[in-house]
Amino acid sequence: MPIATVNPANGETLKTYDALSSEDIEQKLALAARTFDSYRTTSFFDRARMLQQAADLLDADTPDIARVMTTEMGKPLAAARAEAAKCAKAMRWYAQNAQHLLADEHPAEADVKDSGAARAHVRYRPLGVVLAVMPWNFPLWQVVRFAAPALMAGNVGLLKHASNVPQTALYLEDLFRRAGFPEGCFQTLLVGSGEIESILRDERVAAATLTGSEPAGRSVASIAGDEVKKTVLELGGSDPYVVMPSADVAKAAKTAVTARVQNNGQSCIAAKRFIVHEDVFTEFRDAFVEGMRALRVGDPLEESTDVGPLASEQGRKDLEELVDEAVESGATVLCGGQRPKDFADRGWFYEPTVLTDITPEMRIHREETFGPVATLYRVADLNEAIAVANDTPFGLSSNLWTGDEDEIERFARDSGAGGVFVNGMTASHPALPFGGAKRSGYGRELAGHGIKEFCNITTVWVA
Ligand code: NAP
Repeated sequence: MPIATVNPANGETLKTYDALSSEDIEQKLALAARTFDSYRTTSFFDRARMLQQAADLLDADTPDIARVMTTEMGKPLAAARAEAAKCAKAMRWYAQNAQHLLADEHPAEADVKDSGAARAHVRYRPLGVVLAVMPWNFPLWQVVRFAAPALMAGNVGLLKHASNVPQTALYLEDLFRRAGFPEGCFQTLLVGSGEIESILRDERVAAATLTGSEPAGRSVASIAGDEVKKTVLELGGSDPYVVMPSADVAKAAKTAVTARVQNNGQSCIAAKRFIVHEDVFTEFRDAFVEGMRALRVGDPLEESTDVGPLASEQGRKDLEELVDEAVESGATVLCGGQRPKDFADRGWFYEPTVLTDITPEMRIHREETFGPVATLYRVADLNEAIAVANDTPFGLSSNLWTGDEDEIERFARDSGAGGVFVNGMTASHPALPFGGAKRSGYGRELAGHGIKEFCNITTVWVA
């Protein structure tokens, strides 16, 4: 895959970049290792000051970087601005909270005595150089949710970003440099995924985090496993969205539209499978389909656009294949199911689509639809809803709409996902851990859980 900005709204190649040479990579690895040696002993106060500065710079840069993101991967401009604001918020949150999240922990005195120590405590120390392999769908946010805690913990970062967002990748390196982080604290590596193995095997790299598809995760995890290096994996999702009779069905249907088409439908935590109790099925279906039909598909640089193009031609082809196979196998198209006529000859657009009459044999039942395509299921009760919700290889997040406390408890107990969101759509927040189960990956980002993933949890025992 070339390292290039190709506008998905019209297929035009705007900028191409040469990949780094092996000498360039060596220099960057050496700089990262050298920088870690001194950066790891800097104070929380200094790190927080620089991260606050990065947040302020990002706020000021938002109009420009939002446009870059939209041009590189097609998200509507308003969504790009919101993403930048979310990144600034996460930076400020970690700047304010990292020190207490990583404060020394003191076990109970009786236990310390029992261990034979006069005193003992747990200290969180940084691991070192962390390689971040990141996707294009939230090109700022996915990186910042790794970088903000990693830098606050005293680690240094090497970013291998997706090949279609090189300008955003270079912007991030520049942002952290301008904010005052020492040269080498955060470097972008413009390389293809073929270079990842040798970088990850380099002894100067301590650990890796990957957000992306399952094949990419499996590859990075197996190389890291071979090298006995820590990894965090944030992979795909096919989140269920369960609607029960006691729910506010109109609100559930309205939110369902946003939950499905956010980011042009290319979000790991987008609700993808809509599982609705038979008593409210017709009401939900009609409102949901109406909402999906009303969306404005178009140029993501236009403020009035709700849904832009898919980020790549291949992404649209994969989505079309899933839909076409389902329809050939008996699925019913309630809306969409094709390329919008207005954009037949340019850009990688796809109509917001709702399919029903899904059977377990269809690929779309088990695979992730990475685009504005929803599948709709009718169920008889909560037992069946949970069974359908969990009948997936993924386990990222899950949604329930209900007015019944017992159903909330039951769903929180039995959902197979790493998140349970009730009467609202899944969204990440700096103070709440984020991550999945099953094929959606392992480890957590955000909150205290995220910042501790790349720490050497050190026992200090003194007799
Ligand atoms: P992707 O193709 O896996 O790419 C992600 C990153 O991995 C890119 O930097 C890519 O580099 C690299 N990569 C690709 N193949 C690789 C391999 N075999 N070994 C090592 N690295 C490899 O994923 P994507 O299409 O960008 O993103 C979509 C996927 O990410 C979806 O499944 C989505 O659900 C998931 N995702 C998950 C989360 C989460 O938090 N759980 C968040 C966002 C997205 P190149 O670009 O150079 O190929």
